[in-house]
Amino acid sequence: MVGGGFVGAEAAAVARGLGCEVTLVTDTAQPMGDALGDELGALLRTVHHEHGVRIDTGVLVDEVLTDGGRASGVRLADGRTLAADAVLVGIGARPNTEWLTGSGVPVGDGVACDAALYAGSGVWAAGDVACWLSARTGEPWRIEHRTNAAEQGLAVARNILAGPERATPFDPVPYVWSDQYDLKIQIYGRTRGADEVRVVEGSTAERKLVALYGRNGRTCAAVGINMARALRGYRAQVAAQAPLLTGSAA
Ligand SMILES: Cc1cc2nc3c(=O)[nH]c(=O)nc-3n(C[C@H](O)[C@H](O)[C@H](O)COP(=O)(O)OP(=O)(O)OC[C@H]3O[C@@H](n4cnc5c(N)ncnc54)[C@H](O)[C@@H]3O)c2cc1C
Repeated sequence: MVGGGFVGAEAAAVARGLGCEVTLVTDTAQPMGDALGDELGALLRTVHHEHGVRIDTGVLVDEVLTDGGRASGVRLADGRTLAADAVLVGIGARPNTEWLTGSGVPVGDGVACDAALYAGSGVWAAGDVACWLSARTGEPWRIEHRTNAAEQGLAVARNILAGPERATPFDPVPYVWSDQYDLKIQIYGRTRGADEVRVVEGSTAERKLVALYGRNGRTCAAVGINMARALRGYRAQVAAQAPLLTGSAA
């Protein structure tokens, strides 16, 4: 597996379940480190190890090696080579917007929209390609998850009917989940950019927990592992960007 994000980590878990030998290589410090941070990423690494996945972190893959027209392994940036019968690359995606160049539709990291997903001149965007101004944080957000794509599709339809003048901001609490082995990982909000992580219920040792992620002292995300009901109690705290609290649900 090249890449330790959602795709690489989930595919590793499934492949192990099917009896394949798996080596996962990622340039991050921990698998799913971008989404979960180091502490929960380290827990995930332990669980993958226990299931027999070999993990190489902090190293880029430079090249896919081939033999007789088939993948035979990869070469790492530190010069090592790893043999493989198959290579799965899950290193993310870039929005396909080149074809919009010169059309007048503003593009950058996707189609640049206002808070209501309007890009101007009668053009709206929804889904992975939409980069909209978050009404809550004032920052551009672009999210590659299907819950977001579905909610944006509904929001854009309503806003097209209302028209740009009366369109309302799209202001969700993003939600995504990942099932790996016996872990159900659920995330409300945006963990990326967090400068603080606090486990507020359960513990990494129990493999059942809720962790709050903070940015500048405010709650930006809540992550649950095998604690779905407790996690839901923290959604409002994420929505309100409430000061980061410890203890029971706010
Ligand atoms: C391997 C993988 C696993 C994933 N697993 C999950 C998951 O478990 N949970 C989750 O929430 N999300 C997951 N995602 C992300 C999820 O698939 C996307 O967020 C979602 O598909 C976005 O929907 P969309 O309509 O914006 O784009 P897409 O579903 O990518 O649809 C875009 C469509 O537009 C077409 N298209 C592109 N350019 C043009 C053009 N110029 N003209 C006409 N058509 C065009 C494309 O061919 C495609 O059919 C996964 C993604 C991948 C790649």
